[in-house]
Amino acid sequence: MALMPESVRKLVALNASVQIESAAGLNAARTDDDYREAGAEVSSDRIALLGKADILVVVNRPDAEDFVLLRNGAVVLGFLRPLDEPEALLPALNRGLTTFSVELIPRITRAQAMDALSSMATVAGYKAVLLGASQIPRMFPLLMTAAGTVPPARVFVLGAGVAGLQAIATARRLGGVVEGYDVRAASGEQVRSLGATFLEVDLGGIKTEDVGGYAVELSDEAMDRGRALIAEHAKTADVVITTAQVPGRRAPLLITEAAVNGMKRGSVVIDLAGATGGNCALSRADETVERNGVTILAPTNLPATVPVHASQLYSRNVTAFLSLLIKDGELQIDLNDDVVGPSCVTHQGQVVNKRVAEALEASPSVDRV
Ligand code: NAD
Repeated sequence: MALMPESVRKLVALNASVQIESAAGLNAARTDDDYREAGAEVSSDRIALLGKADILVVVNRPDAEDFVLLRNGAVVLGFLRPLDEPEALLPALNRGLTTFSVELIPRITRAQAMDALSSMATVAGYKAVLLGASQIPRMFPLLMTAAGTVPPARVFVLGAGVAGLQAIATARRLGGVVEGYDVRAASGEQVRSLGATFLEVDLGGIKTEDVGGYAVELSDEAMDRGRALIAEHAKTADVVITTAQVPGRRAPLLITEAAVNGMKRGSVVIDLAGATGGNCALSRADETVERNGVTILAPTNLPATVPVHASQLYSRNVTAFLSLLIKDGELQIDLNDDVVGPSCVTHQGQVVNKRVAEALEASPSVDRV
């Protein structure tokens, strides 16, 4: 749910009027009455709601049919996947909508409260460990019992960004023995500070991150060195959690088929990069794959399985962003603002984001639109 009642109160205090689609909050344990009490109007007339909105706040990108129901000049804010699926925003562009994508909100100090990617990655990293723990035929903690000692589960986390670090912390809390891996050397200290071992691979001093702190796409040779190390350590793992992403690119392939074949029976891979192609060669988005007793899961929307807290965090993120767009109850878009400008995808019939414009030019499906 994109807006929780606590956020509705904040928006009402900014003199905005808030309309909520009836029953939209139920999965996040919020009723229509909760929204009414917070000052929102609740309606089940979706077409009318869309037709009169100045700003549509969503979790995921609306369908093309919803874009055309919005009025020309309306604002859409949400996870719009502008770099992965730029062509899906063409209906919004043609409709003259101003679209803001939370994925593009810059990770500068001023925008920290708006960092929806980090919020969702936190939830996904946490839930991935619970999923792994419930899947494996063993317990997580070291137990000393009258019947003997139960060794702790071994957890291997690939990609130590926000999701990976949360997975490491959660696995440690459950008592697992954890190893972490990332190509960004800076993540080593963070991994170790959580009580895990950091695996270092010698990449010959090549550049592995951009100025924004994101990983860059690596050469085949560098990737092969990483994959060899990963295959070696995956052999002893009970749970492997993969979170590696390179913004705007296919997810890096870290676990080959041969590496899966080398894993123990009963072990599990939870691939959090399934939406962008997966980090494991055998992953299939939202499907369960079995290979010689190894289970490979690639859930693409784990935050949706923790709807109360995922919604609460997301709602706070988008409300912080909305406070930049709403002044005295009026919509005011300042594309010169260092948070608003970079987050904007389309405005007044133009693709204003350079990376998205490039992705659209490169997209093979655009010619067919
Ligand atoms: P992400 O989701 O883009 O990627 C996840 C992780 O995968 C990253 O740590 C990345 O280095 C790693 N990765 C990419 N290619 C890899 C490969 N071939 N092998 C192994 N690992 C690989 O990243 P994210 O979680 O969004 O975070 C990216 C960066 O942004 C980090 O440096 C993070 O600390 C930083 N960050 C900053 C802020 C802030 O300042 N407000 C907020 C969140 C994150």
